[in-house]
Order: sequence, then structure tokens, then C-alpha cells
Amino acid sequence: LPRDLYGPERRNAPGLAFGDGAALRRLSEAVAQAAGPAEATPIIDGIVATGRTRPMVSPIDAIVIGSVIEAGPDIAARVMEGAARGFPAWAKMPAGERAACLERAADAFLREQARLLHLLQVEAGKTLDDALAEWREAIDFLRYYAAQGRHLFSEPENLPGPAGETNSLRLVGRGVFVAISPWNFPLAIFTGQVAAALMAGNTVVAKPAPQTPLVADLAVRLLHGAGIPGNALHLVPGGPDTGAALIDHPALSGVVFTGSTATAQRINRALAARDGAILPLIAETGGINAMIVDATALPEQVADDVVASAFRSAGQRCSALRLLLVQEDVADRMIAVLAGAARELTVGDPRDLATDLGPVIDAAAKARLEAHIAAMTASARAHVSGAAPAGLYVAPHIFEVGGVADLREEVFGPILHVARYPADGLARVVDAIRTGGYGLTLGIQSRIEEAAERIAEALPHGNVYVNRNMIGAVVGSQPFGGTGLSGTGPKAGGPHYLTRFATERTLTVNT
Ligand code: GLU
Repeated sequence: LPRDLYGPERRNAPGLAFGDGAALRRLSEAVAQAAGPAEATPIIDGIVATGRTRPMVSPIDAIVIGSVIEAGPDIAARVMEGAARGFPAWAKMPAGERAACLERAADAFLREQARLLHLLQVEAGKTLDDALAEWREAIDFLRYYAAQGRHLFSEPENLPGPAGETNSLRLVGRGVFVAISPWNFPLAIFTGQVAAALMAGNTVVAKPAPQTPLVADLAVRLLHGAGIPGNALHLVPGGPDTGAALIDHPALSGVVFTGSTATAQRINRALAARDGAILPLIAETGGINAMIVDATALPEQVADDVVASAFRSAGQRCSALRLLLVQEDVADRMIAVLAGAARELTVGDPRDLATDLGPVIDAAAKARLEAHIAAMTASARAHVSGAAPAGLYVAPHIFEVGGVADLREEVFGPILHVARYPADGLARVVDAIRTGGYGLTLGIQSRIEEAAERIAEALPHGNVYVNRNMIGAVVGSQPFGGTGLSGTGPKAGGPHYLTRFATERTLTVNT
């Protein structure tokens, strides 16, 4: 790949030094002032569709922040046919021009920082630093895929052959991609899916999560404003039935999905049940992510990294740490330092700069987490527990369980499980993690380099982090995605991702 993907020519988006009080205040004021009624609608062939309106309320305080018009399953034929009509022209557009659209969109995202951050806060309940990190990631996806796609999709690659024959290989878009994205990264993952599919020459029908259509709507308007034609990118706010109808439509050429393992498996079955072409599913799903801490690890560093990994974003990341495995000899001390740090966390309104954990996304999420906390409280030792403010807030919890096998499903919130393993029990722990079948993120804390390498080698995880936290994968540095129950692999923000959205064709000419 050309240097400009990694070198000084393509930089990730700028952040903010959170120690710079004046800059932080300016940003948080600009974000607060960007308040205003927001709307999400189906946008089909560039035209807003009408329908039944549902008010959107903020998970922060249940205040109405806008409204959404949701599309039912009956929209599928219209939007999929629109996207199919848009495909030939978009696919034929030179890759450099498609890339330029994405780069102009990145500039628009930069300009609209305040509005985007505002929506990430009020619609998804994000703290300012989480919102900022997500906004940066969205911009990075746009620029990274543009830089890479310009290279991959511009010229056919010449291949060797006998004298008298020329061979070439080119990458071509597949057709209509349906992009289904989650509420926990409603801007970054939404934009990353759309940008990758478009860059590869596909047209896209994007269905944001029902909890977060407002920021998706703004993103689509910015993408259209950057030159992406209305019939190349369509927006369909709606629920699972709408998603299912899109996937059933004959014009479909592929699906990119981020969300739960169970939903990915349902999509996979639906694709398998279709007649006709065999279609790809690019899926990034959940994990029961573990961190292994041996006796050589530094307790203070472990506490910092675990707190970030388990509790940042209120644990609502698929990368988040769910199960901490600590070598017995140091467990009491590690758990004490960690529990002390976790008790310091502040839960509340994420617009308050002192807040560490904002709300969880909705009442159903809160009910699931409370049920888990109740079950754990009855059966396990609680090292950290406590009450949260009224509303959709959940306080950080740490429960001690017997081992890997005691955690059978992903618990998507600020609840950490810890287990001890004996000094001679590491191999069994590694085996148990492998047997679980998930392979998303893995943390290792050890000052023995070979020990960390051996663990990383023995497990299939897509993202392994040694002696640091295990969240916040950076575009171009930690391409993100897992294996097994955690996803189909190649890796958002990585050098092989775009190829998954394309077909490869060779041309052989006898000269
Ligand atoms: N890429 C995010 C991270 O590294 C997680 C994405 C997700 O939760 O789906 O934290």
C-alpha cells in the first residue's frame, strides 16, 4: 500500500487536550449552543419520505430532543430499487471522484463538529470525551477509506503471464449494500460502514439503530452535501422488521452489520435462505472480552486500564472488558486497588464535564442490566456496588465469579466480573476463553514479554492489547473486529476492509 495511508500525508482527525480548560469550556459551550429540534426521516433517492412521526427522547433526562419518521417493511421495494438504479453511475464514477466525495464529507463533519457532538450527547448519552473520540473516528474512517480506495479502485493491477498474454485484476463494487449499524457508535460505525461500501463502488441503504436515527440523519445530509448522489445513499430509519425486509429484497448484493451475535446469525440465516446469488455478510458482533493479569503486572496500571476498559462509555462498547482474570497470589491487592478506583467514578448527566459514566441507552437496557445485577448479587460476592441517580443510570459494579465458564453471555453495561486463577492455572484459563467461541478484544497485563506473547498466540482474538486498556481502537492503527462468534473478520479501519465490499475480476487478453 502507498505510504500515504500511514505516513504524514493522512493524519487522523485532531483531538482536544482535556487539560486545556479554556479550550474545553469553549467546546462544551459550542456544543450546548448547537441544541435545536432535530429530525430523522427516510431519505430515498434524495427525497424525504413522510410517515408516522415518533418523538425522540434523550436517555439523559427523558426530554424530547426531536422526532423520527420510521419506515416500515413496505419501504423495502422502493428504496432497494432506488439504490439499484443508482448503482451503474456510481460504480462507473472514477474512484478518485468517489474518494473526493468522502473527503469533502470529512471536511463537513469537521465544520459541523458542534451539532454532531451535541446529538451524540443528547441522543446517545455520551460524555464529551466519548463524543469527541467518536466524531474523530467518523472523520478518520472517511479519510482512511478515501485514501485507500483511491489506490485500490483506480487502476487495474497487472499480473504476470506467459508471453503473448496480458493479465489484469481489478476491484469492482458488488451492487446494493444494506448497512445496519448500532446505537453505541451511531456516528462512527454508521459512517464507517457507509463510507466503505460507497468507496468500493456500491450504493447503500443505511438503517441506523432505532435508538439513534437523529445523528445518522445529519450524517447523511452532510454526505449528500459533499456530492454523494441521493440515489447512491439512502437512509431508512426503522426497526428489525424493516431491516429484515431490506435483506429479503432481490436487489440486495451484500450486508454490513454491527450489533449482537444473535442478530448477525439471523441475518446469516436469512441470506442463506434466499434463492439466487450467494451474498457476503460483513459482521462485527459482541464478545465476552477478558483481561488476563499475572503476578508481575503493576496494580495501579491495571486499575487504570480496567476502569477505562470496563466502565468508560458505561460499558456500552463491544470492545469493553467483561471478565477480569487475576492470578491468585496478587488478586486481593489488585481487586482492592481496582475497587477503590471504581468507587471514585461519577455517574450522571454526561454534559457535566465531571461525569465519568452517562446513562445507558434505554429502559430495556437498564432492565436487563438490573436483572443481571440482581442475579449476581444473589449468587456472587460484590466488590463494588451502589445506587445510581434516578433515570437510565446504572452504577459501576464488580462481582467475583468462579471462572470463565460463569459468564455465558455478553452483559452490555458497566458490570465487571472478576475471577482468580492459580499460578499453574493459566493454560486452563486460556483454554476456557478459547472454548467460549468469542474472539473480539483480549487484554493481557504482564511484565514478562514472552508470557504475553504466548497468550496472544494461543487465542484467536481480533484485537489484543498488552499492558494498556482495551477500548478505543484507532483507525489505521488498531483495525477493529473479531473472529468466531465476534464477527467475520477484516477489520474496520484496516487495510483489507474495502476489498470485502468488492468483487475481483481478472481480464486475460491473448495479444
Ligand atoms: N471500536 C470500538 C472500540 O474499540 C468498539 C466498537 C463497538 O463497540 O462496536 O472501543
